Amino acid sequence: MEKLSRSRINEYNSARLGEGFGFESDVYVAFISLKSALESFFNIYRLFRIYDYEKLDPSEYENNIDYYSVYSDTIIHLHHFFELIIKDLLQQEHPMLVFRFDRAVTAPQLLDIFNGKKVTSDLDEDIFTIEFVRSLRYVVDLYRSDSEKYCKYKVFKEAQSQLKYLNVLRNNMWHQGSYVLTIKDFTEFIQSYIFPVISVVSKMERYSVIDFWKPVISYKRVNVFECLIEKENYNEFNLLLELGRASYQNSFRSNLLNRCNQNENIKNKLKIFSTDVKQFYEDYKAGRDAKILSRAKNLNLTECPVCGIKALMPDSSFSSDRGGCSKVKCDFCSFEIYDDICLESNLFGIERFW
Ligand SMILES: [Zn+2]
Repeated sequence: MEKLSRSRINEYNSARLGEGFGFESDVYVAFISLKSALESFFNIYRLFRIYDYEKLDPSEYENNIDYYSVYSDTIIHLHHFFELIIKDLLQQEHPMLVFRFDRAVTAPQLLDIFNGKKVTSDLDEDIFTIEFVRSLRYVVDLYRSDSEKYCKYKVFKEAQSQLKYLNVLRNNMWHQGSYVLTIKDFTEFIQSYIFPVISVVSKMERYSVIDFWKPVISYKRVNVFECLIEKENYNEFNLLLELGRASYQNSFRSNLLNRCNQNENIKNKLKIFSTDVKQFYEDYKAGRDAKILSRAKNLNLTECPVCGIKALMPDSSFSSDRGGCSKVKCDFCSFEIYDDICLESNLFGIERFW
C-alpha cells in the first residue's frame, strides 16, 4: 500500500477531507451504529459465562480489556445512534434546527443559509451541529409546546434522564476513558432503560422499514432484541445474549446481504429479513445440511435455533468436572452454550442436552 507522504497529508489537511464518499443517509449510519452496539453487548455471556451478575467477583472484569471493549463499544455506538436519530427527526422539522454558528458568521450570511444558498468552504468552518444534550432538549421542547402535534417525541421526554445518563457515560469514556460501570449496573442500564427506548424509536414510521440491525434467529423468526427487554431471569437473559451474538455471525445473513448488494435500492438492500427471502433460505439450508451431514455422519446433530441448520452438537473437546455433556456448539454459525444454562423447558427448541 502506498505510504501517505507528508505533502499528501498537508494536501488532505488543507482540503480537510481525504477522498471518500457520503453514505446515502445518516439514518442508515444510525442503525449501523445500533447494530455495532448490540454486537458488542451480546458478547457478555460468551466472554464471562456469568450466571448471576450480582454475585460476580469484580476481579473477573475490573481492568479486563475484553470487558472494557464491550462496554465502550456499546456505550459509544448507542450514543451515536440516538444522536443521529434525534438530529434526523429535528431536520425533518426544519433542516437548520441542528446547526449552530460561530460568531464570525454574519447576518447576511445567515440569511443566505436560511434561504438555502450553498455554504461556501470559508463559512463551513464556522458552522457546527448542536451537541447531543441540546438536540435532546429541542425534541422535548417541541413535545411540551404541543403534545398532540409532536406526540412522537413523547418517548424522548419520558426517557430524558436515561439518555442524559448515557451521554454522561459516553463523555466519561470519550474524554477521560477511565470510568466504567460494573457488569450488573451496565447490563441493567442497557436492558431496562435503553432497550425499551430503542424499541419505540425503531417502530416509528420513518424507521420501521429498516431491519438489517435486528438479531433475528431462524427459530420461529424470533427477534432476540425484543425478547431481551422483558427478561428478568439470568438463565434466559444469557441464552438470549448468545442467540443474539451468533445471529450476527450466521453466514446466511452475510450471504443474503451480499446477494442484496446487487439491488440498487438501498431500502431493499438493508431490509434483509423481509419477505421474498424464504426460498433463498430454504435452498441455502438444504445445501448446508447436506454438506455438514456428509462429514459428520456419526454425530447426533440437531437443529440450531440461530441458523436453522442441523449442525448443533455436543462439543467433545470440552471437559467438565461434572462429566457428561457440558457444552454444545453449532458447527455452522458459532452458537455455543454451556451447562450453566438450564434447558429444561425446551427453550427456543433446543434439545435437552443436560
Ligand atoms: Zn447455527
